[in-house]
Amino acid sequence: MSWPDDGEGASILRVVDSQAFLALEHSGLGNIAQWQTLQLNALAQWLFEQVPWWRERLGAGVDAAHWARLPILSRFELRNMVALHRAPPVPDGHGAVSGAQRNGVHTGGASAGAHYFISTLAQRLINHAFYADHQRQGRNPFLPHACIADDIPLHSGEHIVNEASLAHAQGPQALRNVELFTKAQHVHWIARQQPAYLTVRPDWFEVALVHAVANKQPLPEIRQLLTFGATATDSLRRKARQWLGASVRHRYTCPECGPLAFQCPHSDAHHHVAVGNVKLEVVDDAGQLLPVAGDDTAPVPGRVLVTALHQYATPLVRYDTGDVAALHAGCPGCGLAVPTLSKLRQNV
Ligand SMILES: [Zn+2]
Repeated sequence: MSWPDDGEGASILRVVDSQAFLALEHSGLGNIAQWQTLQLNALAQWLFEQVPWWRERLGAGVDAAHWARLPILSRFELRNMVALHRAPPVPDGHGAVSGAQRNGVHTGGASAGAHYFISTLAQRLINHAFYADHQRQGRNPFLPHACIADDIPLHSGEHIVNEASLAHAQGPQALRNVELFTKAQHVHWIARQQPAYLTVRPDWFEVALVHAVANKQPLPEIRQLLTFGATATDSLRRKARQWLGASVRHRYTCPECGPLAFQCPHSDAHHHVAVGNVKLEVVDDAGQLLPVAGDDTAPVPGRVLVTALHQYATPLVRYDTGDVAALHAGCPGCGLAVPTLSKLRQNV
């Protein structure tokens, strides 16, 4: 294990950022709304003054109080906007801007084929929002972690090794590109690796598990299964518990702006909105805001719209994720006063 003799500033930023995300989540609805209002107003002002193609969409005098008047941004419109205009200028302090594809593969500074752009600051905050989830879910970040995903760079051999590092405050990581092996090979590999935590897509992994059990393959013991990219179904949760001894901790994410919500640590059915990263709204098919569920209001599922608070390099304002959920004023699972999603269904 290497001692953090360089990157000291980065280590401090990780601690500061991740603690700030958790503090905001626990600061109460009033503080969360006040802080998000500042971010939204700053974003609207910047886009209106600096980005001509957003000025047209926003119009003058837009502020957080009237967010629901802004047009909904479809995936098709976003794709065209990026292809036509590339990245707009970003505020001082955001650092360099780079291109990336929706599967997370970076394309470099200005190369064609980018699906979105991201600043150094926005990427740092995404990384640290994910890091903060270790504390939320009671994970020891120094235990071995394995990941099978399509955005892992192609590799020779069994997997990519990231050594344990105090500088990065993480244990040994083994990363594997999902395309390079069969499902059976992946499950054999997991059983050999015995990671404490495993990051996978839930739909893919459920099929792999069912095949492995049918073929009497040895199964690993896992503490937590970190899922992303598709709905974490109750049937996967049952199988993970029964066959691996694992609890599923879902991360609701968006390729262009990172975490949207993290599963409540006390409830499979609820997800705390990543309030330090995004504002989420839920609308009906006509685009009208649905009532937020509370003590006297039942949850009504609708389309999830995301406004990314730090994503200036590819602005996402009321971006239609294509997913469905109901929005609650507070978390029914643990009682925390933080905006929360239930009835989440992705890629519907
Ligand atoms: Zn909760």
